[in-house]
Amino acid sequence: MTDRKPAKFMIAKRIDAGEDPRKLDEGSLWDLHGKLVDEFTLLWSRIKEDREELEGLSKPEHSFLDVKVELAYRLSSPCRLCERMCRVERRRGTPGVCLQPYAEAVVHSYFHHMGEEGPLVPSGTIFYGGCNFRCVFCQNYDISQVAPLAGERVSPPRLAAIQRWLRETGARNINHVGGEPTPSLPVILDSFRYLDMNVPQLWNSNFYASREALKLLLDVIDIWLPDFKYGNDICALRLSRAPRYIEAVTRNLKEAAENGDMIIRHLILPGHVDCCTKPVLRWIAENLSRDDVLVNVMEQYRPEHLVVKRPDKWPEIDRRLRRSEIEEAYDEAEKLGLIYKPIS
Ligand code: SF4
Repeated sequence: MTDRKPAKFMIAKRIDAGEDPRKLDEGSLWDLHGKLVDEFTLLWSRIKEDREELEGLSKPEHSFLDVKVELAYRLSSPCRLCERMCRVERRRGTPGVCLQPYAEAVVHSYFHHMGEEGPLVPSGTIFYGGCNFRCVFCQNYDISQVAPLAGERVSPPRLAAIQRWLRETGARNINHVGGEPTPSLPVILDSFRYLDMNVPQLWNSNFYASREALKLLLDVIDIWLPDFKYGNDICALRLSRAPRYIEAVTRNLKEAAENGDMIIRHLILPGHVDCCTKPVLRWIAENLSRDDVLVNVMEQYRPEHLVVKRPDKWPEIDRRLRRSEIEEAYDEAEKLGLIYKPIS
């Protein structure tokens, strides 16, 4: 964030892929990607330890980043970018659950966000349209579910220009959020090809990316800001219509925590402390290193969207949190030794 080290995407651009990724089939692309991950990891650690300078490395004709971009577009049609696995041909205009187009991202707004965790602000936040979840209490329901295509349709160069402007005007990082950024992954990765400016990339997501999509992200995202909403699949299905939630999110959390800094966010839901908050905190304590991961337990829930329209369907979340629920959540976090208070 202070320009002392290059962001990961800048390093990925310097790794030589050796051949034109557009000419390879998907299986060969993944083989090549696997080989280049090892090269990237080595170079990344050499740069972190001051044993190598980015400036001393030439820019190859076809880079590791180009391989990722090619794979991301292939994954988006038939679409397998997230755990929903819609497999729709977005290239032909067939929408999946997220309703997002092919090869363009829909940007609803971008600005310097001052409300994120203290060390991250001002955060150059880009709000993408559409979401692969259907949260009945969504606070961004206008851009995620009601009018996900109503923003500006941006190409990769335009998205790079937005990021450049955010950085030049003081952003400490670029914060990809929504809605949900995962459906726009190909355009986001492609934008890095046009971005010749050092700026850390932050992935602010529900963490429901497919295994393959996450692999593409691991070597370009510097800071992870995942939501961990539910402690079981029944609540995930009932409130967000997200099947296989636990399997997907815990898999992605474990992978990503080893590849960058992470702040996990958990929003306490009314009536869900025992079934969601406690299991979420326990899983984090048992599975992730407290040296690598910070936890932000959030208490600002308010009823929104469908909960307000149909409170009879989701009665337990049609209210604000009780003081006793907040204290119970914080007590559990403290008992488990997690950093639990909002980071200021
Ligand atoms: S990103 Fe997810 S929800 Fe959207 S079309 Fe692809 S698989 Fe479906």
